[in-house]
Amino acid sequence: MLFWIMVAALIFVLFQVKSLRQQWVTGPAFKLFKKVLPPLSQTEREAMEAGSVWVEGDLFSGKPDWERLYSMSLPQLTDEEQSFLDNEVNELMGMIDDFDVIHKDKDFSEDAWRYMREKGFFAMIIPKEYGGKAFSALANSTIVSKIASRSVSAGVTVMVPNSLGPGELLSHYGTQQQKDYWLPRLADGTDIPCFALTGPEAGSDAGGIPDTGVVTMGEYDGKETLGIRLNWDKRYITLAPVATVLGLAFKLYDPDKLLGEKESIGITCALIPTSHPGVEVGNRHLPLEQAFMNGTTRGKDVFIPIDWIIGGPDYAGKGWRMLMECLSAGRGISLPALSTGNAQLSAQTTAIYASIRQQFGCSLYEFEGVQEGLAQLSANAYQAEAVRHLTAGAIDLGQKPAVVTAIAKFHMTEVARQSINIAMDIHGGKGIQMGPNNYLASLYMAMPVSITVEGANILTRNLMIFGQGATRCHPYVFDEMVAAAEPDFKTGLAQFEPLLYKHIKFALGNAFAAFGHGLTGARFASAPKDDANKRHTQQIQRMSKALAICSDIAMLMLGGELKRREMLSARLGDVLSELYLSSAVLKHFYSRGANPKEQPIVDYLIQQSLCNCEIALKGYCRHISNPVVGALIQRLIFPWGSAYNPPKDKLKTQLALNLCQDKSLRDAITPMCYVGKNEDDAVAVLNQAMDAIDALAPLAAKVKAAQQAKTLPRKGSIFQLREKALAEQVITQAEAEQIAAADELRKQVVNVDEFDFDLGLAQGKGDDVKVSDAA
Ligand SMILES: Cc1cc2nc3c(=O)[nH]c(=O)nc-3n(C[C@H](O)[C@H](O)[C@H](O)COP(=O)(O)OP(=O)(O)OC[C@H]3O[C@@H](n4cnc5c(N)ncnc54)[C@H](O)[C@@H]3O)c2cc1C
Repeated sequence: MLFWIMVAALIFVLFQVKSLRQQWVTGPAFKLFKKVLPPLSQTEREAMEAGSVWVEGDLFSGKPDWERLYSMSLPQLTDEEQSFLDNEVNELMGMIDDFDVIHKDKDFSEDAWRYMREKGFFAMIIPKEYGGKAFSALANSTIVSKIASRSVSAGVTVMVPNSLGPGELLSHYGTQQQKDYWLPRLADGTDIPCFALTGPEAGSDAGGIPDTGVVTMGEYDGKETLGIRLNWDKRYITLAPVATVLGLAFKLYDPDKLLGEKESIGITCALIPTSHPGVEVGNRHLPLEQAFMNGTTRGKDVFIPIDWIIGGPDYAGKGWRMLMECLSAGRGISLPALSTGNAQLSAQTTAIYASIRQQFGCSLYEFEGVQEGLAQLSANAYQAEAVRHLTAGAIDLGQKPAVVTAIAKFHMTEVARQSINIAMDIHGGKGIQMGPNNYLASLYMAMPVSITVEGANILTRNLMIFGQGATRCHPYVFDEMVAAAEPDFKTGLAQFEPLLYKHIKFALGNAFAAFGHGLTGARFASAPKDDANKRHTQQIQRMSKALAICSDIAMLMLGGELKRREMLSARLGDVLSELYLSSAVLKHFYSRGANPKEQPIVDYLIQQSLCNCEIALKGYCRHISNPVVGALIQRLIFPWGSAYNPPKDKLKTQLALNLCQDKSLRDAITPMCYVGKNEDDAVAVLNQAMDAIDALAPLAAKVKAAQQAKTLPRKGSIFQLREKALAEQVITQAEAEQIAAADELRKQVVNVDEFDFDLGLAQGKGDDVKVSDAA
């Protein structure tokens, strides 16, 4: 007893006497931190400070804040934005025949280009005072989603000027003079912008661009001018072949110190008219047969005046921060939007096709194997909409949440990839045979574009989500890094000490809570509502605590090395992602009025997410450097072994049947799927065929009754028995004609495009052979 009292007294004295404490406890801990934590460079610090931390901070810290999430009022489309979506977007879609654009013209018609320029499709983010539309991030995202469901090429073409590029950079950082000159020209389509960062030697590692600018005197407009002599070689640049103004990123050097004391100034962005002497644009790439403009730009010893730097000379060297700030927000808008269009088109068209197409005497959707895919399509469509809305909403609310935008970019493009693959499988040959009636092929072909751009997916998952999450979202690590980077040991230690206590308290709290939730199945975790989602929110809380403690342990054990252990850190990133995706789904569900018809989709998605969390965390425990520590952590967070199972087969069937049989639900969860108006639009025909077949329900009942009464043969569909049913007066002449008309539409859906042997002519569908000029 005396021994323990003495130990306690010793600890007390140690902590009370500053010099002792610092010498024996916090000093060594600080030294250890300095050793294990990655060094914080100025560029990294700037990048970290560029974004903001939002709900992901709560999820990462083991404290999901449901009150904050549910009470957040997300922006909706304004009347002007809704009108643009209903009118201009639909009008543009009607002008674009994606098959012709891709396979025949490799470009949009002049009319479509003019329409996009004149109606402000390229001016959505430009402020109104400069003639732009000043649409919200949500509107931008909704418009791109809808367009992409019809034509990826058009989606990308509209997306690019409204995301990272001259328009956005000028709006945020441009000098007044630059804004006054360029923004009205971009808004009314006089100028078409592109932005060139990537080159042959620098793709993902954009900070390593070899393109240079040297500050020097040169001649411009007949006068000796302070300026920059540029050399660049860029590729993959969207809109470059048709651009009239080039946003260029390069590394700026000032060997003669004309701007100041620094010789190596850093990444800088400038705006250059493509008509400027020496600027090369025009060559095209062919990105997976898509027709959007994409190509190269080069320049050798091109002299530009210094005030062409975006933001003027004051912004020399600030390019990286500018790009990070804009990209961290933009990433949450464009690609998730493109992906939502894809996921919703896949869900809607596949559900209808699987209802219309019959094999073995059944509609495809009646087969369990097909139902499994349909369930996932339904869930993906819902999740994409939820994540798109929440993430774009956050940006509209003034956030710059770098972590959730990376989550949205990575997961939504992967969701789209999964959806289009399932859609292709269920469509069978219908998805493979190219032609104007194939509404899937172009999305399928273009899928890798979304995966690769704005942060290629492997890098985004493995390096960015957790890498940024750990330092940005953790309540103490960033400040600890700042303290560790402090050159004076004593000052650093003084900053570090209070952080260390809080950090220890935080980690112990999370460890106890994770274990407690594990023992009790999170039954005592707080939940915002006592409804069907109560257990979901409790389990999310449990996984959030588990993530918090696992992250701390990984950072403590591996420090800076964790950056290189991508497979390990990506698993923690996966958990953070699943928690965000689940939160988005719940928010979406309640924002839409908690429709009970959507509850099975929510159940499916959350069960799947929790299961993914468990897989990721168990993988983490298995692969953390020390197997004993790994086994102990696994016991701590999963004391009873496996905690979660994937959705049950019964639930999958329910989702599939709901998607196929409940038109109102299908339409409600696929609002971004563009459905044209005329008979040349394959998605419109698909919907018309479904409506016509649904309308046959009373006649099908009559035919079935006649079959049971043996007036009609036992076997055969309503289409096959139409004539006999008429002859037996089971149906009237008008009803027989209604069945024939529906059958015509059904055949159009089942048929695929046929071409002449030399592919010189494309033929229309079914019996009604229509020669088009598609090839
Ligand atoms: C159609 C299209 C349009 C584009 N438009 C533009 C544009 O308008 N302007 C512009 O500047 N650029 C544009 N890009 C470039 C795009 O941003 C790059 O393609 C992208 O950054 C990836 O670079 P990369 O293709 O050279 O691949 P690489 O950098 O060579 O990467 C190859 C693979 O390695 C992975 N990888 C790389 N580093 C890591 C790491 N540290 N950890 C894990 N994985 C890693 C990547 O994820 C990727 O899977 C476009 C590209 C395409 C294809």
